[in-house]
Amino acid sequence: MAMKPRTIITVDVEEWFHGHNYLDHVPLDQWENQESRVRQGMDICLKLLDKHQVKATFFVLGWTAERHPDVVHDIVAAGHEVACHSYSHPVIFEMTADEFRADCLRAREALEKVGVLDVAGYRAPSFSITPPVHNYLEILQECGFSYDCSLFPVRHPRYGQPGSPRRPFRLDAGADSMIEVPMPTWRVLGQNIPFSGGGYLRMLPWPAFKMLRSMAFSQGIPCIVYLHPWELDSFKPEVGLSATTSVRSQGGQASMPVKLERILRQGDFETLQQYVERLRTQEDLPVGMHA
Ligand SMILES: [Zn+2]
Repeated sequence: MAMKPRTIITVDVEEWFHGHNYLDHVPLDQWENQESRVRQGMDICLKLLDKHQVKATFFVLGWTAERHPDVVHDIVAAGHEVACHSYSHPVIFEMTADEFRADCLRAREALEKVGVLDVAGYRAPSFSITPPVHNYLEILQECGFSYDCSLFPVRHPRYGQPGSPRRPFRLDAGADSMIEVPMPTWRVLGQNIPFSGGGYLRMLPWPAFKMLRSMAFSQGIPCIVYLHPWELDSFKPEVGLSATTSVRSQGGQASMPVKLERILRQGDFETLQQYVERLRTQEDLPVGMHA
């Protein structure tokens, strides 16, 4: 029996300079010298969610949790779900299995240190668990995650993986198997069309977003919105991005608070963990990557 798809708000809690578009401009050893804006964006986000009484899932970077424990405490106090977005925002397919495992454990430890002991979910930076490292999902399971939301079956310069599964599946047949929840797409004419976050959501006109969302719903796919605190903030860093990259990382930024509020105004919502719990009751949930 197909489940009724709902809207799920997810936020990757990181600084503006963590985005992979900034890697060449703000390398890791320069992070401490940058202006932190995570608090400003998170304040806007938490206020909007509170106003509309919607609970969301926050994928928090370990690096950010260590520096802004207050932000994590505010997420928990408001009754939202805290999940994991790696420790230092690496490109996962550039890591060895051991490096990936170490980053996962370091991230869990950082969240535990600020009081979040029951982290269930993981999302890879820039959805970078791509086909060559699909087996890393087993590492996430070993590290204690019960679901992952890192596969994005679309064509994209960094995280393209158009052939990977569009629908949730169990990693293995075990009763407590990790569940993978791919990012939503509407499938038409053999193409997967994304719509629910990042540059896609920022730049799509509202009627186009609503159309794509209802098409995805009609295919049983939930609307997993994903956004970042910096998309809600008017801050414009001066780091010399190329024109294309600048559009990709900042285009449509001013419209995001309005768009988020429009999304929050109507519909059924749940957190990713609640969705995963519903999936677990579904007996015909596929098993394995290629199911
Ligand atoms: Zn990220």
